[in-house]
Amino acid sequence: MITVTKTFLPPIEEYRAILQRAWDKQWLTNRGELVLELEGKLKTYLEVPNLTCTNNGTVPLQIALELLGKGGEIITTPFSYVATTAAIVWQHCTPVFVDIHPEYLTIDERLIEAAITPKTTAILATHVFGNPCAVEAIEAIAYKHGLKVIYDAAHAFGVSYKGESLFTYGDVSTCSFHATKLFHTGEGGCWITKNKELNDLMFYSHNFGHFKPEQYFDVGINAKMSELQAALGLAVLPYVDSLIEERKQIYDTYNSTINFNDKRRISLREGTYWNYSYYPIILKSEETLKQLMFNLTEKQINTRRYFYPSLNTLNYLQYKEMIVSEDISKRILCLPIYKGLAADEIELVVRIINNLKE
Ligand SMILES: *Cc1c(COP(=O)(O)O)cnc(C)c1O
Repeated sequence: MITVTKTFLPPIEEYRAILQRAWDKQWLTNRGELVLELEGKLKTYLEVPNLTCTNNGTVPLQIALELLGKGGEIITTPFSYVATTAAIVWQHCTPVFVDIHPEYLTIDERLIEAAITPKTTAILATHVFGNPCAVEAIEAIAYKHGLKVIYDAAHAFGVSYKGESLFTYGDVSTCSFHATKLFHTGEGGCWITKNKELNDLMFYSHNFGHFKPEQYFDVGINAKMSELQAALGLAVLPYVDSLIEERKQIYDTYNSTINFNDKRRISLREGTYWNYSYYPIILKSEETLKQLMFNLTEKQINTRRYFYPSLNTLNYLQYKEMIVSEDISKRILCLPIYKGLAADEIELVVRIINNLKE
């Protein structure tokens, strides 16, 4: 069976050797040496000043929204994984959707200002598929209107934009280390911010508000990464460059062999050093997409409709039409891309795509 992604598992002896250190110390959580080591290595690898690991990629979003969103209106994208919107609603903020750019599929910066009201507190945008949002324009708008900028950078591990880690843009970025993501710790995540003061606030918040063992800065939650998660991350990290390299080769093969007459790829923003985390194609119509999925499934190839449905159509929200996002989400499909996908498997996927009657 071919799937859209496959979790990379490092050799188990390597994982076991790192776990042994936790056993020796009999220390499983509360920011032990493995979490600290992983944070150090990630900071070096990603070239970011501050990075704190968390137990998943959703809680740091919630913490950022708690501290910066303050129950207000959050301008956000309808084209992302549901966690982006759910975190806003869960934090008792109001999502205000702004449609996406038809080429880049990130929030359309030209439409943001019209959505700002006196209740707006922040912009929460997703670097969807690791493609950078219009970070400069968003920063200018945020500055002009006194808004905070949070990036859901769950797909952006290893991406840089204009020579800098994409994680360093905005007030804070969050990433996910879920098993389906490029770099993973099984479950896990992190936040990155250049802002020392915000970093401190998020740090206290992620550990129940502890300031000292018996002193509390403010109310907090538990978002700490465990030593078991960190051990897996330390075992996976040495392979990340090769994971990206193999994905790049698959990406190049798809690019040169898929017939793009009636379908298209997304445009990557200029200045992006990408991570090849997904291979989305946009088909002519939803009918074509369903036919293609059917043909692929017949050959045991499982694709995923990332991201469907458009988040403005969620049943717990007041519906407001988002023309581009609804249209794209109906006809976008992510093709298999992962380390270990064989050449004949790629060929089969491409043959089925190119044989599609439209
Ligand atoms: C995976 C993902 C998340 C959630 O991360 P978890 O680690 O699963 O909590 C959030 N946003 C986006 C865009 C994602 O793809």
